[in-house]
This record gives sequence, C-alpha cells and structure tokens, in this order.
Amino acid sequence: MIIHLKENISDDKAIELAAKASAIYYKKDGFYVLITGSAQKEINPELEPYADEYFAMSSDIQLASKDYRPELREITLGKAKIGGKTNNTLMITGPCSIESMEQITQSAELLKKHNLTTLRAGCYKPRTSPYSFQGLGLEGLKMLSKIRDEYGYNIITEVRDSTHIDEVIEYSDIIQVGAKAMYDQGILRKCGKSGKLVLIKRGFGTTLQEFVQSAEFVLSGGNENVMLCERGIRTFETKTRFTLDLCGVAWLKENTNLPVILDPSHALGYRYGIADLTRACVAMGVDGLLIESHPDPSVAKSDAAQQLNFDQFTTMFESLQPVANAVGRNII
Ligand code: PEP
Ligand code: MN
Repeated sequence: MIIHLKENISDDKAIELAAKASAIYYKKDGFYVLITGSAQKEINPELEPYADEYFAMSSDIQLASKDYRPELREITLGKAKIGGKTNNTLMITGPCSIESMEQITQSAELLKKHNLTTLRAGCYKPRTSPYSFQGLGLEGLKMLSKIRDEYGYNIITEVRDSTHIDEVIEYSDIIQVGAKAMYDQGILRKCGKSGKLVLIKRGFGTTLQEFVQSAEFVLSGGNENVMLCERGIRTFETKTRFTLDLCGVAWLKENTNLPVILDPSHALGYRYGIADLTRACVAMGVDGLLIESHPDPSVAKSDAAQQLNFDQFTTMFESLQPVANAVGRNII
C-alpha cells in the first residue's frame, strides 16, 4: 500500500510515522510517500490525521503499478521526451563497447545524420568470460563525456557492478543497469538516490514480476525516472541468442506505468533479423529502441555478430517510418 502524507509534515514526524507503519519512504515535491508491504488498504489510526491519500494495490507491484499511477510516466531525456502523452519512440544507438575516440566519433556522426539524441556505448562490459574484452572503463567514460560536450547527446552507459557505480553516475546521463546487474540491490539503491535517468534491462532468467520489482528499488529511493528494457529471455531455443518476449512487453504496457524500451540486438544476437524485429517493436508502440551499431562490426570487440554497420542501420532506420506512421508514433 502507498500512503501520501499531507504536505508540510516535518521530517522528524514523517520518519516516525514511517517507522510505526513499517514503511519505507521518500520525499517528493514537499510531501512524503510511504510504502508498506501490505497490498490491502489498512487505515492506520496513528497515521490517519497525517495521511492525505491511500493507494491499495492488486499485486506486489506498487509505485510502478497502474493501480497507483494509471498514466504512463513521462521521462525527459535532454531535449527528448518519451512516455506520458507523447507518442514518441526514442531510437538509442551506438556500439556495444566504446573502443576508441575515432570509433565513437564515427558513431556520433551517425546519430547526427539521423537527428538522434541518445548515444549508447558500454565502458564496463559484463562479459561471460574474464578473458574477453572487458571495456575501457574510466577512459571510455571520459571519451563519452567529450562526445557529450561536442554533440550535446544524452549518454547511456552501463554499470557492471558496484565498484564503479559512482563513476557511471558522474559521467552518464542515463545509467544502464544490465541484464546481469539487475539483481544487484546495491546498484539499484544507488540509482534510486542518483537523480539520473535509469534504464533497467531484464535479466534473461527473470520473471516480469522480478523485473518490475527491481524498478521498485529505484522508484522507492525517490527516483521516478526509470525505464524498463526487454532484451530477450532464455528459452529452450538455441538457434537465436535469446527470445524477445513481446508478450511480456504487452503485459508491462498493460500493468505498469513505466516506459518500455526494446532491444532486438541482444535478443536475436545476429544482425540478419534486427530490421524485421525493430519494425515489429515499432508496430507495438514501444517507447524506445536500443540498437547496436558499429562503424565496422567485423572488428568489434564485443557482440560483433549482432551489430549493424552504418549502411544497415540507415536502411533499417528509414524502413521504420511507414510503420511508425501507420501506428501514430514519432521516432525521435
Ligand atoms: C549491452 O547492452 O551491451 C549488454 C551487455 O546488454 P545486456 O545487459 O542486456 O546483456
Ligand atoms: Mn552488447
């Protein structure tokens, strides 16, 4: 259950009330939001004189639930907006990993050519093997910062573990919490206090409930700027890298108030079907897309098989427009 306290209740009083109700809390626009584990509406007599509104939930999902906020949350990413009443679909692109200043400058030029605003590149890569390329780390973050200064893009980069979360918070505009990191509550709690936009990727063995609950860790820290990213789950199928769960996306759209971003690149794992999948995602009316692209995928240091070269990206991107028109979306 979520309880909005009345405005202008002192910090000490709000904290005392939260403790009595065994609630966690955050403060937003001058009032406290208390969240308890109970789904049912329970009027607490001690809290009653201070409570403004109660929200009972039909499931364990609380702040992310449509029961609490029926309207889709709006997120502002620099000059771009998604969610809310917009019909925008944000195209996020860039290489899996930043590899050099030259490579990332080429990627920045690709965005410029298509009037895009949000550049992705990983600096700390969560590789399955310790012997694979692990990313440029802080050096990469500094390169991305230079690109932001020059082009004004929103920079999205991932946090692999809590050792470098502070660096990622400092250098990025959007923190990507990767599929393997989304269980890390240390990372999630820090994201909740960071004031940065957060994109959480669904773990490939994660239920929708667990996925949304990881967003609850960030939301309940007082950070309302959370986006969910479906990037494929593991099924019995081995011909594709993962299986893009579009049913899950329909469920998220129906039950949560969080913008949903789709990542066909990591789901399929091979570049041949990315354009088809991306058009399918646009047809679903998703809030954003995350597509890996690289100036020369044949030499990419990670995820080489799934990255589009710039011609392939451009062909794919141009093919989205008729689909977007048909379903009333603007690709931004
Ligand atoms: C990535 O975005 O490059 C990545 C590693 O993604 P995921 O966490 O979904 O595997
Ligand atoms: Mn990748």
